[in-house]
Amino acid sequence: MDFVKMTIQALREGLEKKEFSAMELCDFYLKQIQKKDKDINAFLQIDADGAKEQAKVIDEKISKGEKLKSLVGIPCAIKDAILVKNLNCTSGSKILENYKAVENATCVNKLKAEGVVILGKTNMDEFAMGSSTERSAFKITKNPYDLTKVPGGSSGGSAAAVAGDEAVFSLGSDTGGSIRQPASFCGVVGLKPTYGAVSRYGLIAFGSSLDQIGPLAKNVEDCEEVFKAITGKDDKDATSVPSDKFKVQSSKFKVEGLRIGIPREFFGEGLDKEVKKIVESVIKKIEKQGAKIIDISLPTMPFALACYYIIATSEASANLARFDGVRYGKSSKAKNLFSDYTQTRGEGFGEEVKRRIMLGTFALSSGYYDAYYLKAQKVRAKIKQDFENAFTKVDFIFTPVSPFPAFDIGVKMDDPLQMYLADIYTVPINLAGVPALSMPAGRINDLPVGLQIIGKHFSDFDILQLAKIIEKF
Ligand code: GLN
Repeated sequence: MDFVKMTIQALREGLEKKEFSAMELCDFYLKQIQKKDKDINAFLQIDADGAKEQAKVIDEKISKGEKLKSLVGIPCAIKDAILVKNLNCTSGSKILENYKAVENATCVNKLKAEGVVILGKTNMDEFAMGSSTERSAFKITKNPYDLTKVPGGSSGGSAAAVAGDEAVFSLGSDTGGSIRQPASFCGVVGLKPTYGAVSRYGLIAFGSSLDQIGPLAKNVEDCEEVFKAITGKDDKDATSVPSDKFKVQSSKFKVEGLRIGIPREFFGEGLDKEVKKIVESVIKKIEKQGAKIIDISLPTMPFALACYYIIATSEASANLARFDGVRYGKSSKAKNLFSDYTQTRGEGFGEEVKRRIMLGTFALSSGYYDAYYLKAQKVRAKIKQDFENAFTKVDFIFTPVSPFPAFDIGVKMDDPLQMYLADIYTVPINLAGVPALSMPAGRINDLPVGLQIIGKHFSDFDILQLAKIIEKF
């Protein structure tokens, strides 16, 4: 049985027909991890015993003839920013090195209710701040397509686990591109849902007004199955929205007559020529199928990255204040309370996290609040308006995911601004709160390149329908 080539649906059917057991499937993936993860380093923690226990329960249900749920027996991996009860949850940081989650995130409860088998927790940039997973306090994850390259970030472990056939799907989180950019670098499908589509309860917060949890999978259909399982209103997250907001498109979804917007600002200076060619070739193909290609402008795009780095860091500086050596994880146990705060935070946070806390604290401080934070909020409103205007003229927007493919490990570590540029095409989407998907569009010398499909608020399922058609090109 070639498990790695099977979709979630095929695996479910195989289990139903008793062609294999959940335990066999689980064992297969645990062996894959054993074989491949010493090179890839996608996992921070592997829960072999827990996974086997879950698989055993599933097999008992199958043998009793119980009706099976949508993700029954599917081995998956969870980004280490998302709580899974009794497993460590470090968010890639030393400050949470020995922190064990006391409950499940809402999305994990939802996955469990659908019958998944959780294999372990995946590596990430510390507190999801980064674009390469090199900022993890623990290890550097490698790109399964080329072990000398980064997998992208911050959900690099989640993307690499799926690309390296170490899990059927994974969950990531995306504040400014952290699902889509690693999905693009690793040649998998990643969805950043509409803000509010998935409960953030149990996600270690980075920028709360931007953060969204979403799936990474080998194909669009799997991505959709996982999204369906985790979406929905949750009383524990006031920003979550009811599922009925998201209308599921019928299978009649047609490309003919669709209006696809191509924003000039995403195809100009800084975009790698080969990446451009690949994205343009998908655009040509969809045009041939009857879609109308419309040149559009999103004039505020040049300000999006600056706006993001004010808002995200401001929110991070507030969110990370809770890691004080008293409530969670590491404590340096210094001689008095104040030194305990400073020492714990000084030793526990990495360089990039400290940089962001300082930037954010500065932007929020009196005297600078109006000039930076308030101004950034105004720019954010304009960015949102840009997308709203565009969506009166077009149904979807197509762009590259990142200006370049996966880069060499180490090359951007000394230059934070270069690293920030990896997300120039993804951060505007989080600022606007709209959904976007990254899917494989082609390769440059074997390195995957992604296409980004952006839709209006709550059009997540429409994006997935369109992506399924493009996948067959
Ligand atoms: N790379 C971006 C950052 O460093 C986005 C990260 C994310 O989406 N979590 O902030």
